[in-house]
Amino acid sequence: MPHPNSTAAGSNERVDGFATRAIHFGYDPTLYGGAVAPPVFFTSTYGFESMGEMDAAASLGGKLYAREHNPTTEILEARLANLEGAEAALTVATGMAAAGTLMLGLLSQGDEIIVHQTLYSNTVALTRDGIPRFGIKVIPVDLSDPANLDAALTPKTKLVYFETPVNPTSEILDIAAISARAAKVGAKVVVDSTFASPALQRPLEHGAHIVLHSLTKYINGHGDVLGGVLLGDRGTIAHLHSHGLRYLTGATLSPMTAGLIMRGLKTLPLRMERHSRSALTIAEKLADHRAVAWVRYPYLEGSPGYEIARKQMSGGSGMLSFGLKNGFDGARRVLDRLELASRGVSLGDVETLVMHPASILRARQTVRPEAKPVEGVGDDLIRFSVGLEDEADIWDDLAQALEGA
Ligand SMILES: *Cc1c(COP(=O)(O)O)cnc(C)c1O
Repeated sequence: MPHPNSTAAGSNERVDGFATRAIHFGYDPTLYGGAVAPPVFFTSTYGFESMGEMDAAASLGGKLYAREHNPTTEILEARLANLEGAEAALTVATGMAAAGTLMLGLLSQGDEIIVHQTLYSNTVALTRDGIPRFGIKVIPVDLSDPANLDAALTPKTKLVYFETPVNPTSEILDIAAISARAAKVGAKVVVDSTFASPALQRPLEHGAHIVLHSLTKYINGHGDVLGGVLLGDRGTIAHLHSHGLRYLTGATLSPMTAGLIMRGLKTLPLRMERHSRSALTIAEKLADHRAVAWVRYPYLEGSPGYEIARKQMSGGSGMLSFGLKNGFDGARRVLDRLELASRGVSLGDVETLVMHPASILRARQTVRPEAKPVEGVGDDLIRFSVGLEDEADIWDDLAQALEGA
C-alpha cells in the first residue's frame, strides 16, 4: 500500500498538519525497499533499455541527466512545494542561484523590475551591478508604504521583488497590499521569505506569485550546507527549471545536500517555534536595556509592522535587529565581547549568530572603495540570529557583552 502522504495529488482523505507533512510528504518508503529516510542518489546520468525509451525520456522533458533531474532532489521539491502551498518547486545550489535563475529566466532586455530599497546585500549587488548590464531596468522603491509602488509601475514592470521580513533590518512589508497594487499592471510578485520559512509565513496565500528561499538558512537550519528554492505555479517553475538548470546557470543542488536539507526540514516547525519564542524574549529585554537605542522584531509590540506581521506570520522568527546608543563603536565593542554567540554572516542556524553590516562594509571598502551601504541599513545596526541554545544563556551572554557598550 502506498504511503498515505506519498503523492502530491493527496489521493487519501486525510489532510495532515504542517509538521506531519514536513516529515512525510512526497516520499513513499515502499518504493525504496522500505527505507524510512529517503535515499540519496549519486548519479550523473540515466541509462535506457532501448533507443525507444531514451526517445520517450527526451520527449517528456528530458530525464536524461542529473543537472536537471535527481530522485532525491525531486522528493525535496515535492515536499517544499506542498509546505509552501505552491504547485511546484525548483531547488538550486544556493539562495543566490535562485535569485539569479529567477531574474535571468524571467527578465529580458527592456523589462523592468521593482525592488524594495532594502534587500540582502548580495541581492542588492545582483540588482544594482548584475542585471542592469543586460538592459534590465531596476527600480528601487520604499515598499514599507505600498502606495509608493503605484508611481513606479509601468506596462514594462515584469516583477516586484522584496523580502519580508527584510534582511538585515527585520522590517515587515505587507504582502497582500503590495500584491493587490502590482496586479494592476499584471506584474508577478516575488517574495524572498527566507527570514520566515513556510512554517511561519506562506506568501502565496497573500497574493504573491513566486516565493524564494535560501535553504541555507532556516529550512536546513544547521549551518552545514547551501541551497535555494523557487516556488510557484507549474508553468513558471517548469520554465525556470528547463532554462535555468539546462543552460542559464546550471546551478543544480547536490543530491547529498538535498538529503541533508530534508533531514533539517523535518524539525522546521519545532525549530521555528523555539526561535520565535526565544527571539521575542530577547527583543523585549533589549528594548528595556539602557544601552540600546532601538529594537526591531516583527512580534515585538510597538515595532514597526507589528500589525502586519500578526496578519501574515504565525510567529516572529528568530531574526531581530537593534542599535546601541553608542552606535558603530558600541556595536563593535559589544560584538567583540560575545562568548556564546558567534560573529558570523549566516543566519537561521541552531547556533546564535550575530553580525554588524557596517563593519563588513568598511572592511570591504578597503579593497573596493566604491562599495556603498544598503539603503535603510545604518552604521549602528546589529543583526542578531537567535539560535536554539537555552534562551537564558543567549541573554546572559548578550547582557554581559552589553556592559561594554
Ligand atoms: C542568505 C540569503 C540569501 C542568499 O542565499 P545563499 O544561500 O546564501 O546564496 C538570499 N536572501 C536572503 C534573505 C538571505 O538571507
